Amino acid sequence: MSKVVAFIGLGNMGGGMAANVAKSGFRVHAFDLVEANLAAAKAAGCAVFDCAKNAVKGADFVLTMLPNGAIVEHVLLGENNDGLLSVMEQHALIIDCSTVAPANSRHVGEAAQKSGIGFVDAPVSGGVAAANGGTLAFMVGGSEAHFAAANEVLATMGSNTFRAGDIGAGSVAKICNNMLLAVHMAGTAEALQLGIDNGLDPKALSEIIIKSSGCNWSIEKYNPVPGVMDGVPSSNGYQGGFMVDLMLKDLGLAMEASTSSKSSVPMGSAARGLFNLHKNSAGEDKGALDFSSILQLYSR
Ligand code: NAD
Repeated sequence: MSKVVAFIGLGNMGGGMAANVAKSGFRVHAFDLVEANLAAAKAAGCAVFDCAKNAVKGADFVLTMLPNGAIVEHVLLGENNDGLLSVMEQHALIIDCSTVAPANSRHVGEAAQKSGIGFVDAPVSGGVAAANGGTLAFMVGGSEAHFAAANEVLATMGSNTFRAGDIGAGSVAKICNNMLLAVHMAGTAEALQLGIDNGLDPKALSEIIIKSSGCNWSIEKYNPVPGVMDGVPSSNGYQGGFMVDLMLKDLGLAMEASTSSKSSVPMGSAARGLFNLHKNSAGEDKGALDFSSILQLYSR
């Protein structure tokens, strides 16, 4: 009999991820608050449930892909220790793929350990296309044994899985990565606009930088200037991709972590200010645009 994965949170990311787990032969018990997401999961081969507690019964793995840390804590711990932890199988392993604060991961991880249940934080890099295509990268925090066990499920959804350290380390790795992403995207937009304002063709400038010391992922794979690169959000009206609001969420988590560790993050802090400014610029809310739209803050 194949193993059971309970999948809680079937949104933009979770929908495609659950479908890939089901495709690989696991039995998937799916739950979400939104009916349409349940219908899509059913069409993708998952068994759908009327509540999360019923979905986790008999599950070997409980995977959560939820909007934020408060919701993850609410779902797993509940208000009075009446969350999913209270009804899960003793041998089950929780894999939280949501982007949350390291403190959320440690809090849930400690509660799980007290109940004798395994826990790893396993946030992802890669957006909706990678979730649908099964090419996500996972950054995992947890014991070696739980990392090895989680890999059985993570391998069905991603092409790269890293153990960053103990519980909470995956969440730390995720916010460090995304803070750096925000910094080099803002810097790339700034540099390209400087070139454009001084008469350069952005495509020619991009080709030069890609082969020079300014090369980075944003310019190589995700050029923010419309028309320079095919198949990226900038060439599609900044639709799809990774929303400004989600980048701001991750930068907020990075600022929280830097406060608790007393780390200096002047570049991350500046990037957060720039993305906030951009979100509220030109009299409209740009939070739903892809984050490479930060170029609009610089362009005339
Ligand atoms: P989403 O809002 O599309 O999906 C979240 C889902 O959780 C929704 O379908 C919602 O109905 C469901 N949900 C909320 N509360 C619930 C509850 N109590 N019980 C069951 N289901 C509940 O968000 P998303 O874009 O899929 O992102 C999920 C997580 O992945 C977030 O933490 C996000 O930061 C992270 N992430 C997103 C992206 C991206 O590009 N979208 C990339 C990397 C990481």
